[in-house]
Amino acid sequence: MNQTENNQPVLNAHPDVLIVGAGLFGLTMAERLIHELGKKVLVIDKRHHLGGNCYSEFDSETGIECHKYGAHLFHTSIPEVWDYVNRFTKFTNYIHHVYTTHDGVVYPLPINLGTINQFFRAAYTPDEAKLKIADQIAKHDIAEEQFGKDSIEPQNLVEQGISLIGKPLFDAFIKNYTAKQWQTPAEELSPEIIKRLPVRYNYDNRYFNDTYEGLPVDGYNAWFEAMVKSCGDNLEVRLETDYFDDPAIQDLKSSGILTIYTGPIDRYYSYQFGELKWRSLDFKKEVLDVDDFQGCPVMNYADLEPKYTRIHEFKHFHPERASNPDFANTAYAPASGKTVIVREYSKTWQLGEEPYYPVNTAKDRLKLTEYQSLAANEKNVVFGGRLGEYAYYDMDKTIAAALAKFEELRSRF
Ligand code: FAD
Ligand code: UDP
Repeated sequence: MNQTENNQPVLNAHPDVLIVGAGLFGLTMAERLIHELGKKVLVIDKRHHLGGNCYSEFDSETGIECHKYGAHLFHTSIPEVWDYVNRFTKFTNYIHHVYTTHDGVVYPLPINLGTINQFFRAAYTPDEAKLKIADQIAKHDIAEEQFGKDSIEPQNLVEQGISLIGKPLFDAFIKNYTAKQWQTPAEELSPEIIKRLPVRYNYDNRYFNDTYEGLPVDGYNAWFEAMVKSCGDNLEVRLETDYFDDPAIQDLKSSGILTIYTGPIDRYYSYQFGELKWRSLDFKKEVLDVDDFQGCPVMNYADLEPKYTRIHEFKHFHPERASNPDFANTAYAPASGKTVIVREYSKTWQLGEEPYYPVNTAKDRLKLTEYQSLAANEKNVVFGGRLGEYAYYDMDKTIAAALAKFEELRSRF
């Protein structure tokens, strides 16, 4: 970055596009605009790093890569996205597995034949388990109980959950975990949230169903740095720069520059229709003098106590680093006899805290429509990403949305 005589950073040659947010949406848009259209792009972020919520840090004491804003597992079934990300990083063959503790016993997730048999202390075959669960679902047939109909489309998370797995499994593994995680009555939550979790009638306890899965071999930041590097001089990145209060950015704004804004949409409009509701998180990190704390990457806690929803043990995300002699004496060589765990606590978001998950109640959806109608009239501002669209996007969906938005914008140039 250039400096003025009094050491103030100045902008490079006038950019064609300003991108607010160096997360996956912003970086993908920048990369496309530069490589496909030869544009000059300025990306700003108010944080001190690239990558938005996917950012990770190598713990200085143990060398273990820790995901700062919650564990991030890359998985996709979209071939274009898999091809795209592989231009910037290789991926390990990591496959995600999660376990859950309920009433002092550990069960495999997502709910599968192992979970069902352990829970009912049975040895059901797949067909027997299907009959058992169908019977459980029929006992609490919401359509008949509440509406006197043969079937209805589940309207909220409780209806969706019970219609997928029946009440006993729902009460054990979903009800209290969801209450801790969302701190909003499950009857007000969208059925989509629970549809993310597969239910399987075999012993496959792979967490995701996707075709492609893995973690960036050299860590998340190496991926984002490779994206930036590929853009050469056409890209300028300014970190610790807030769109709303940086003087140089105010000048750019008044010039009417095309802006891709990936911050919160309600913030952009000064919360004039009220704040959209988010869920925030607290992460409590500990370095422990044991080689292996819990034997798996993520342990969920399904009951109301303990208060945390899950514990992440990051060394399990990269088993290849411990055993690969190439990593010896590098930043990626995890120390033996030590581990890093992070307890994740969920909390209701308040202005000034990190927004993590859109709660997306009916009231929120109404407010969002109002903000979106203002956004539709903007000539020079395009909204995108999980904050700009108030959407629960995984990384691959964020990239797919950015690639699609770029194609839409192409005609403007
Ligand atoms: P972000 O990553 O949030 O980036 C937006 C950027 O905009 C931020 O860096 C922010 O600082 C910046 N910004 C905002 N306002 C301003 C402003 N006024 N001025 C300047 N900059 C600003 N996806 C998966 O595929 N797998 C997972 O395992 C997974 N785990 C997740 C776990 C958690 C806890 C969360 C919250 C999300 C998870 N995701 C996961 C989703 C993933 O984080 C998102 O898909 C992705 O980060 C979205 O990228 P983005 O660019 O839209 O937003
Ligand atoms: N969920 C649950 N119990 C679990 C895991 C998940 O009830 O042990 C529910 C919960 O409502 C959660 C949703 O399923 O919000 C989606 O789970 P996922 O693991 O995808 O959540 P994320 O990793 O995005 O927080």
